[in-house]
Amino acid sequence: MIDRKRGFYDEERETMARNDREGFIRRNLRETVAFAYEKAPAVRKKMGEAGVRPNDIQDIADLAKIPFTRKTDLKNIQKGELPFGGLAAVPPSALRRIYVSPGPTYDPEGREETHWRWEKAFVAAGFRPGDIVQNTFMYHFSPAGLMFDEALIRIGCTVIPAGVGNTDMQVQVLKDLRVTGYVGTPSFLMTLLEKAKEIGLMPGDGLHLQVALVAAEMLPESLRKRFQEEFGIQVRQAYGTADVGSLGYECFQASGMHIPDEIVMELVDPASGKPVGPGEIGEVVVTLPNTTYPLVRFATGDLSLYTDLPCPCGRTSPRLLRIVGRVDQVTKVKGMFVHPEQVLQMEKKVPEASSLQLVISRSGHDDKMTIRAPLSERALPSEALRERIKATAREITRLRGEVVFVRVEEMTEREKKILDARKWD
Ligand SMILES: [Zn+2]
Repeated sequence: MIDRKRGFYDEERETMARNDREGFIRRNLRETVAFAYEKAPAVRKKMGEAGVRPNDIQDIADLAKIPFTRKTDLKNIQKGELPFGGLAAVPPSALRRIYVSPGPTYDPEGREETHWRWEKAFVAAGFRPGDIVQNTFMYHFSPAGLMFDEALIRIGCTVIPAGVGNTDMQVQVLKDLRVTGYVGTPSFLMTLLEKAKEIGLMPGDGLHLQVALVAAEMLPESLRKRFQEEFGIQVRQAYGTADVGSLGYECFQASGMHIPDEIVMELVDPASGKPVGPGEIGEVVVTLPNTTYPLVRFATGDLSLYTDLPCPCGRTSPRLLRIVGRVDQVTKVKGMFVHPEQVLQMEKKVPEASSLQLVISRSGHDDKMTIRAPLSERALPSEALRERIKATAREITRLRGEVVFVRVEEMTEREKKILDARKWD
């Protein structure tokens, strides 16, 4: 039996003591900022405009002096000076590859040994040398396919560059090549497994999958459970972007995604711009030690929350508990930020409602919040329930709202947790 529960890619780094970790990150931070200032004109420019010199950045807290580079602005930054808007530290001819993301924005890949750093994620997820891995991420234009492909090869796996789609062929390959590992989205994995089941392939009988790393979509725990119980597949998830590569990965414990040791990550409150504490929601902002693309305060637009409690796996890095949404889904109501995650929290506290939706409108010059509450079959509307929903909303969003009991069919744009119906003309 292969042990897929324990194992490290770089045990010394991944398990370093808290003090050593802080020192290591501080060193990476200083070197990255100094390097980017020297080699990446756009970083030098934004630091110059903020009146900051590399020596002013000694600690993570000092980073607040430097403005963000927003992922959503990349397209425009790059247009100013194609292809990378002065953010790369080397000319295009020195790169290994250049990728094209929707926009388009261009993503450089340097000649470093590992540009995207997914090796730790695979080992933590349970991939081992000798695994035959079907990689169903896209290989053309997007970095997704190759960034996982190369990390798998580096840890001793064999890769089938399957790419997206082609369900029938993919299932055939799973069987013919006795594939043991999968990389891709969780939904496509379930599509493949259902197809396999349909034609009579079962675990131990034509189906050899044991381990999977999934990304780019939410992995509901109910789905993870099905993968494990119905198909015997150990599924772990990871988080990353086309600009930065690996930003987090689950270990065997599957209780949050370890932040890669080598990157400098801040979680920043979108309202105040201040770093948040454990359990609080903030935007993922990355400073990336990379000799090709040394990003300084790159704001991903993703909202997350972290814990720094020790993980039984032995890794000492903090963990991102989950990705809870995008900064651009955050709505400002009466000066307060409200985000979809808060509505999910409210739903947990009101089991009588089958879901909840906040509708934000204007009444004169004031914002008005209405809470739409379709009730589940057995629940009845009452004043007591109305008051409880109001109180829950106040507790979680710090805002007052009116509650309306509605039927699900009456709700417009039901998929939205927050519906901004304000007109500003
Ligand atoms: Zn762990």
